[in-house]
Amino acid sequence: METSVEFRDMNLQKFSLLEKDSFKPPGRTKLYVVPPLGKGTIYAESLTSYIKRLADAHSVSVTLLLHNIVIPDNQSHIKHMHPYWRTAMHSVNGSSSMAEQFVSMFEVEILSKLVGMTLLPLEDIVGRSGRGTLHKNMNICPLCINQMAQHRSVFIPLIWWLEAVSCCPIHKTKLIDTCPACSAKLTAVPNYTPLGYCPKCGAFLGEKNLKINNYEKTAQQEEIVQVASELILYLERRTFFRNLFLKGVKHAVDKFSRGNIADFEEASGFPKTRVKQWLSGKNHPRLDDLIKLCVCHHISLVALCSGIITNMENVVVHTNIQDLLFAEGACDR
Ligand SMILES: [Zn+2]
Ligand SMILES: [Zn+2]
Repeated sequence: METSVEFRDMNLQKFSLLEKDSFKPPGRTKLYVVPPLGKGTIYAESLTSYIKRLADAHSVSVTLLLHNIVIPDNQSHIKHMHPYWRTAMHSVNGSSSMAEQFVSMFEVEILSKLVGMTLLPLEDIVGRSGRGTLHKNMNICPLCINQMAQHRSVFIPLIWWLEAVSCCPIHKTKLIDTCPACSAKLTAVPNYTPLGYCPKCGAFLGEKNLKINNYEKTAQQEEIVQVASELILYLERRTFFRNLFLKGVKHAVDKFSRGNIADFEEASGFPKTRVKQWLSGKNHPRLDDLIKLCVCHHISLVALCSGIITNMENVVVHTNIQDLLFAEGACDR
């Protein structure tokens, strides 16, 4: 029950203050609020990118941020996993148990929901193994990096992490995972170096112009990017369920191969029994296989995972480059 103490102001008007023990302060965090970038667009920021920018905003290394602030004392086993999670940080963007742990730890610490920065909404369909899901190293478009650096801080969108995606949705250039200056692989989360710079030699990774042989404008990659882009847009709004996905696959088998699973596997370019194993529950599908399936039949992955078959949507052509690179989201509570 609230109790109050009455005071009088200089005009002898009464006013009251709540007593100390009845006052409940709002939740506190040791961290500043750093808004996620690209929110609501196909360039939604990845969780590893957000973690890195959060560390930079507090002028600490990623290790220090995790060890001293984010990982709670009762989760000390995660600290002991240090060498492992440093090499497996890419999986924080996926549907793995590590992604789930990191999302929940950060949500507690920043008092905000990190929706759409990982592939967790797909976990019921693709499982936790992460096979065929994410690149192990950071992949970047040097032209995007250059534009981001000129206008605001550099960030890494989730779509660049998808293993099936090898070209930039905006520039159609080949994504790179090595430093052009020293050929070192780009680590998933640089500990000290800011995003956009090589963690090994410090070279800036952005470029104004790319040579023509760096273009990856194949018809197949364009369709892959379309399928992936639509998926990224929906990860923020929806969780996908296995039963609906299996219903969608059955519809696809009926529509494209008159119910014959073996014919459907062949028409989709899969080895025998691949789809049969999904339907029997023996194996989770790999995300790159799902994207390949949708490209092969020109259908929407979001619709397939929702139990229906519709043509794929070209969400990329309707997108303004400024909206992608410079969109800033509010934190969800
Ligand atoms: Zn680009
Ligand atoms: Zn380098």
